[in-house]
Amino acid sequence: MPRTTARFDTLAAARGWEGEARNGAARSAPRAAAEPMDIETLFGQHTFGLAEMRGRLPKQVYRAILRTLEHGDPLDPSVADVVALAMKEWALEKGASHFTHWFQPLTGSTAEKHDSFITPNEGGGAVAEFNGKELIQGEPDASSFPSGGLRATFEARGYTAWDPTSPAFIVETGAGCYLSIPTAFASWTGEALDTKIPLLRSMNALATQARRALELFGVRDARVTATCGPEQEFFLIDQEFFYRRPDLVTTGRTLIGARPPRGQELEDHYFGSIPDRVLAFMMEVERELYRLGVPVKTRHNEVAPGQFEMAPIYENANLAADHQQLMMITLRKVAPRFGLAALLHEKPFAGVNGSGKHLNWSLGTESQNLLEPGDTPHENMQFLFFCTAVLRAVDRHQDLIRASVAHAGNDHRLGANEAPPAIISVFLGTQLTDVLEQIERAGTATESKQGGLLGLGSPVLPHLPQHAGDRNRTSPFAFTGNKFEFRAPGSSQSVSFPATVLNTIMAESLDELSTALDAELAKGVSFEDALRRLIAEEVRRVKRIVFNGDGYSQEWQDEAARRGLLNLRTTLDALETLPSDKNRALFEKYGVLTHRELESRHEIALDQYFKTVNIEGETTADMAGTMILPAAVRYLNDLVAAADRTRTLGVETRGLTRTVQIVNELVDEMRDALDALVAQNAELGGETVHSKAYHVRDNVVPAMLRVRAAADRLEKVVPDDYWPLPTYRDMLFVK
Ligand code: ADP
Ligand code: MG
Repeated sequence: MPRTTARFDTLAAARGWEGEARNGAARSAPRAAAEPMDIETLFGQHTFGLAEMRGRLPKQVYRAILRTLEHGDPLDPSVADVVALAMKEWALEKGASHFTHWFQPLTGSTAEKHDSFITPNEGGGAVAEFNGKELIQGEPDASSFPSGGLRATFEARGYTAWDPTSPAFIVETGAGCYLSIPTAFASWTGEALDTKIPLLRSMNALATQARRALELFGVRDARVTATCGPEQEFFLIDQEFFYRRPDLVTTGRTLIGARPPRGQELEDHYFGSIPDRVLAFMMEVERELYRLGVPVKTRHNEVAPGQFEMAPIYENANLAADHQQLMMITLRKVAPRFGLAALLHEKPFAGVNGSGKHLNWSLGTESQNLLEPGDTPHENMQFLFFCTAVLRAVDRHQDLIRASVAHAGNDHRLGANEAPPAIISVFLGTQLTDVLEQIERAGTATESKQGGLLGLGSPVLPHLPQHAGDRNRTSPFAFTGNKFEFRAPGSSQSVSFPATVLNTIMAESLDELSTALDAELAKGVSFEDALRRLIAEEVRRVKRIVFNGDGYSQEWQDEAARRGLLNLRTTLDALETLPSDKNRALFEKYGVLTHRELESRHEIALDQYFKTVNIEGETTADMAGTMILPAAVRYLNDLVAAADRTRTLGVETRGLTRTVQIVNELVDEMRDALDALVAQNAELGGETVHSKAYHVRDNVVPAMLRVRAAADRLEKVVPDDYWPLPTYRDMLFVK
């Protein structure tokens, strides 16, 4: 049979997602709808957190753990055996048979290797055992994880080390459950092979420098923590569509696909009522995350059709990063129960919005958020000091901030007229900008613009307190009331490295500003005078980084160039800057990354870029050669047969002839583009990972786009029932 009805079968399957066809996969949906959400019981049910430890551990052991958690004191190894025993008992009660050290290698995702608690005993039976040594240290073969030259494959030894500050948790699967212990991952030589170690080091550096700065303000022994709240955007499509798209399955995004007649222009999806199936899915995700102690707070539709967002309440940066990984894992895992696939890629669909992961970041002590301006920021010198430190850090390290979000998937977002531009700048809003301008002009600020009350013109509606400034959606780094929102991270990426960068550059900034203040104080200048002068000076120096306008506009591109701000458009432009002397010195000085650790990250990022694009190039060629071209040729064949027959009947065939010509030309175009892509895919692009990365960016990406252009034109002329792939029209709108 020449024609394919695959698309119609797919649509039918998508519509019948609740039926037997899915092997009962949707069985949990009715449960999700029916089971009440008892948050107090659910929350942390599957974590070995403080409450559980207090009940199960001897007092002095519990206190030792508490000191580590709250003060960052090193944990006495002798408590490990006691903790391990309690942890094991708890896990066995939950039904776990295995444990794993859970870590975050430089692939950006997570890894685990399971061990059973089982220990055979003399009678031919077995007992469950787990001791302190097994809790503290694991020794996975590290040779297959990326190390970027930190370790040759023959030196396979790597260690995982228990992170007592992130609670162990139980992972449930259909078949049973296991205990998962958050760990750090290092090489045999002690170099960080993961994203957790540098993050913890950066939090420590920031805490040290912030404590020192606070002492100048008369705050003694402050324990400062970096806090993060990552918002996760994602797409949901029917799983049936997902499996019928080799590009989604292998690369996470559609490599071909014509724009649908309707995209997001009606703006009716954003914050719209959440479709039932999606809501059931989200509630199930929330239930699982609550059990794991992840404080998910908000859920809503996003801008593009089929796009959604979920966000937790902020936590300390390390916990937030672990929980963010659990969020991604849970989204992917729960979706199939509802016949859905969760797409976490930055740009699953061309022509509609991509997905980001806004990283809300701040720093605070137990009693105050250091980025809280209060109602009268002009009087809040401590806030102005910390805010100035942020501006200084961002201005100085635009390159590093940009590099921390550089990867192939994000190239489709940044600077593509939707996500923040690739230029890094800071949005401060009307009120703060005004305060800083006063300081810049007069050396001091005397007033803060106030918001007032907003009347809505109807007596039945309340008067609303109005903020002193509007929001801005286009800034990559926006002050949003009491935190900065870094909007450039991609939806699929770990937030660890972006957070590590923010913490480290802020540590440096606070260090240098405190040193400058110390020098003035030593000269006998009063603290108030020294502070005011320092802030005024800094504001003058770094004000070019502040931009409150439309970040998507061409004017901003021009203006930013005039201001001398960096515009690192692609991943490779940004990665080039990573191992510079400036960045090397920064990371070394604050003990966050050694020179070799930084180099290795650079190398791995290049390698991942190259491999990602390479796989995309190969997948595009496969699909074009084995799906698109054959469909077009089948159609052409039918057209030619029809033309032949009409000719024998002596019928005039102008329209038919023209159609044959159009399809024939597109087939030519496709053939040429495909040949060119196949040739580029076959090129190695040199010996080094560096030259390979440039080869795929400069040669494979354009060749892929040419194939896509031909395929997308064909999609518009080849009959629906010949087309072998679910279309955007189907994927984005069938819910
Ligand atoms: P919006 O971005 O729409 O203003 P929210 O105020 O709810 O929304 O904040 C979004 C995210 O910022 C949430 O994850 C929230 O927990 C987080 N957030 C709030 N305060 C802080 C803070 N001090 N540090 C880090 N993240 C924070
Ligand atoms: Mg937000």
